[in-house]
Amino acid sequence: MSLAERVKGIKPSPTLAVDARAKAMKAEGIDVVGFGAGEPDFDTPDNIKEAAVKALKSGFTKYTPVGGTDELKDAIINKLKKDNGIQYDRSRIIVSTGAKHSLYNVAQALYGPGDEVIIPAPYWVSYPDQVILNDAKPVIVQTEEKGGFVLTAEAFEKAITPKTKALILNSPSNPTGLGYPKEALKAIAEVAVRHKVMVISDEIYEKITYDGFRHVSIASLGKEIEDLTVTINGLSKSHAMTGWRLGYAAGPKDVIGAMTKIQSQSTSNPCSITQKAAVEALNGPQDFLPVMVAEFDKRRKYIVERLNSISGVSCPMPVGAFYAFPRVSPLYGRKFNGKEIKGSADMAAYLLEEAKVAVVSGDAFGADDYIRLSYATSMSAIEKGLDRIEKAVKALS
Ligand SMILES: *Cc1c(COP(=O)(O)O)cnc(C)c1O
Repeated sequence: MSLAERVKGIKPSPTLAVDARAKAMKAEGIDVVGFGAGEPDFDTPDNIKEAAVKALKSGFTKYTPVGGTDELKDAIINKLKKDNGIQYDRSRIIVSTGAKHSLYNVAQALYGPGDEVIIPAPYWVSYPDQVILNDAKPVIVQTEEKGGFVLTAEAFEKAITPKTKALILNSPSNPTGLGYPKEALKAIAEVAVRHKVMVISDEIYEKITYDGFRHVSIASLGKEIEDLTVTINGLSKSHAMTGWRLGYAAGPKDVIGAMTKIQSQSTSNPCSITQKAAVEALNGPQDFLPVMVAEFDKRRKYIVERLNSISGVSCPMPVGAFYAFPRVSPLYGRKFNGKEIKGSADMAAYLLEEAKVAVVSGDAFGADDYIRLSYATSMSAIEKGLDRIEKAVKALS
């Protein structure tokens, strides 16, 4: 049997793989501390679950319109107006089976052979592979830790060619935990408008921010950039709903229309029950959120302080999401039992096998000097994991 050519260019999601490996080791009875998870360790709030139960019991179990119910689209339109200052109508919204699916629909609708898509590194693992799956070319632009991992307008403009189709932005960022200030977005928007480059803005962590960081939607910065932007969001992170699978996109009518046509031939509507739960998530009380963010904030401060106290490790203070992204490259070249740690993959393997701590290697995000630790896990697990990492780093020679 021969598989399609496009399959050869991609890899399974490395973050999901680390999480699966840690879970498998746990199932074998090994005491692993998992920092791999890309999801909140909180349960979905009860009012949202109750809305789902009600939908189920009342028989809301049939197909819905492909791009989502009008009720849910209206809740999303309200949210985007209230939180993000952007005014949409129903024809410019599509609801999909997770934000990852929304991003994939965008990729299918916009990218094709010969197209280039600019992706600032460190990037979320699925962006390049979704570009490759649609026969286009990811153009990776490195950003610097000292610049807050922000893509500058100059670096963006330099990467643009006549083949450039889009730029993918993610703020606050997975994996860095850093975010784009408004001024940086303005400068990027100016370049995008001048060169007519689409901007795909993944804002899934907008609600999880710290130290007064204010998330800004690039589409809110003016009509011209709004017409070039597809804003992606969802409920997985903000409402602890990863398993429910619901995301959405808001953008120009023709792009959303194309995405809806594609979705009508692939998955049809997202789960009807989840859609009812999503209406409650968006319109109902939001008091769950500050409680979750306050807990993440405590862990964030602790984990970053512990990481920075380890010689050879340095970690910037995140302003969003729930990831710490320490630089560990000063440790490269050191050895354990004669075996040299050459890069982030070796480091992650060493920590997993010797310290029983699961982290994601930075090379998965296009940043081999780093590793990613999710602090969406209990404080006691974080303490135990950091004790182990500290000890394992000291054992290197
Ligand atoms: C988790 C995550 C997503 C995907 O979210 P789903 O709605 O669960 O598909 C998209 N982008 C980033 C950066 C993420 O971390």
